[in-house]
Amino acid sequence: MRRADADVIVIGGGPSGATVAAEAARVGARVIVLEKRQGDSPSRAGVIQPRVLELLDARGLMGRFREAAQHWRPDFEIPRYIYAGLTGLRYDLLDSAHPYALILPQTTTEHLLRAWAAESGAEVRRGVTYVEHTEDADGVTVTALDADGATVRLDARFLVGADGARSEVRRRAGFPFEGREAAMTAVSVDADLTFPWAASMQMRRNENGWVLAYPFGHKTTRFIIVAEARRTTPRDEPVTIDEVRESLRAIFGEDFDITSAKWMSRYGDTHKMTPYLRRGRISLVGEATRVHYPASGIGMNYCIQDAFNLGWKLGLVAAGDAPESLLQTYDDERHPVLRDLMDDVATQCALHFDFSPGGLALKRFVETELIPVPEVNAILRDRLSGFKTTYHRGGDPHPADGTRVGDFRLGDRRYTEVAAGSAFVFAERAAGAPAARALPPRVTWVLDDDPGFTRELAGASAALIRPDAYVARAWTATPSGSELDTAYAEAVGRGARTGLTSAGH
Ligand SMILES: Cc1cc2nc3c(=O)[nH]c(=O)nc-3n(C[C@H](O)[C@H](O)[C@H](O)COP(=O)(O)OP(=O)(O)OC[C@H]3O[C@@H](n4cnc5c(N)ncnc54)[C@H](O)[C@@H]3O)c2cc1C
Repeated sequence: MRRADADVIVIGGGPSGATVAAEAARVGARVIVLEKRQGDSPSRAGVIQPRVLELLDARGLMGRFREAAQHWRPDFEIPRYIYAGLTGLRYDLLDSAHPYALILPQTTTEHLLRAWAAESGAEVRRGVTYVEHTEDADGVTVTALDADGATVRLDARFLVGADGARSEVRRRAGFPFEGREAAMTAVSVDADLTFPWAASMQMRRNENGWVLAYPFGHKTTRFIIVAEARRTTPRDEPVTIDEVRESLRAIFGEDFDITSAKWMSRYGDTHKMTPYLRRGRISLVGEATRVHYPASGIGMNYCIQDAFNLGWKLGLVAAGDAPESLLQTYDDERHPVLRDLMDDVATQCALHFDFSPGGLALKRFVETELIPVPEVNAILRDRLSGFKTTYHRGGDPHPADGTRVGDFRLGDRRYTEVAAGSAFVFAERAAGAPAARALPPRVTWVLDDDPGFTRELAGASAALIRPDAYVARAWTATPSGSELDTAYAEAVGRGARTGLTSAGH
């Protein structure tokens, strides 16, 4: 039974909540987002990673993200990235239209994502704080408080907790949150200081710790500092300018005339995760499902990828075009990816935070001897960029099955142009294709006569591509109508989908 107020209520209008709302709304769900803040959140994440750039491109959003980044700083593309605080990751070698990390403050990213959610048809209500919910066979009832303290009650079929690391939805819904508390803390500072070097990014390390510095807007420098002497400082102890100057002196060996900062934050390496991402009518997305040290700036990016995975599924289910069982594939596909992410963050932290003589020697060895090895570089950059994630079917899949789709020429357009106005895309080599097809619902059919098409899709002559730009099914030979119908049914949770596995990031 369809509830009155919305199909989906999303708690939290941060990167995860805004993205899941946009993705569900664009395929037809009625979505309300409740966000407790009326102003901006502090700008934590500073970069958008290549896979997220591809996904934004598939929604026609890259123009506005690049324009915002350009306004922020002219050299906003970072073609050489870091891993565990070490240099040399060759993002410029990624096979993508976006072989770089894009520098943009999270505040701006959130503005753009919320605007997109609203354009997609979601209603974003600010100043409304989720308090609790009840769940029954038909849906959920959410109780919230508006900015005047008045109680608001809303009914919906599904509830999404996108309310961040301290998620109240997670707590109220009884999801376990397992792992360990923070063992150390680090500091991030947006200092009022013109960036003092010619290079766009600077990194230093010694026995006293590690610092990353880069320009972050007009006359602002972002410093990320892991200071050996301060690592056990409790998270709630305020950061002071004196502490920042002292740490920079010890690690950089020089003083900076920092007198003020726009933002200073102390954060820890708490490492916790939920054992599943959904239960009944409640799904969690983004940091509501895990917290970890923001190693190499990938946290928000995996949150946004979660949201792209969940959004279209919720939208199709809510619109009555897919069974509720489709939602389970969100957990089946993303949970293994997130477990790998947590392991990867732990690996990076072990290397990154060891400033002993042995630890420093190991860093030198990894940086100078291992990271430059092309195969090692490829493994590490695929993990961080998000390119390693695949959603494979079991059985005997085509090599392109479950793989990510970037941009490529498709017919007389680009894939991203077609995807921006579509749910599923069925791309097919013109040679051998029938003149007409009865298509499953929600599928845009594009014929292509360019051989480059098959290179993009591992030699396939046809591929059904999901809304989140992963191949649902690829074929070597032109599929019959019933083969296409079966593949579509499986992709929307109607058919038997056996042995699903996802490879981590
Ligand atoms: C210092 C630091 C640096 C970082 N740097 C990077 C980086 O460079 N790259 C990167 O990818 N990631 C980085 N991260 C991680 C990134 O900030 C998070 O992964 C990201 O913000 C998570 O997005 P989210 O939408 O899941 O949660 P959040 O951003 O926390 O959003 C949750 C939203 O829910 C709202 N909310 C909470 N409770 C309620 C309620 N009861 N009712 C209504 N609304 C509610 C909040 O106001 C908030 O807007 C960094 C994090 C830190 C701390």
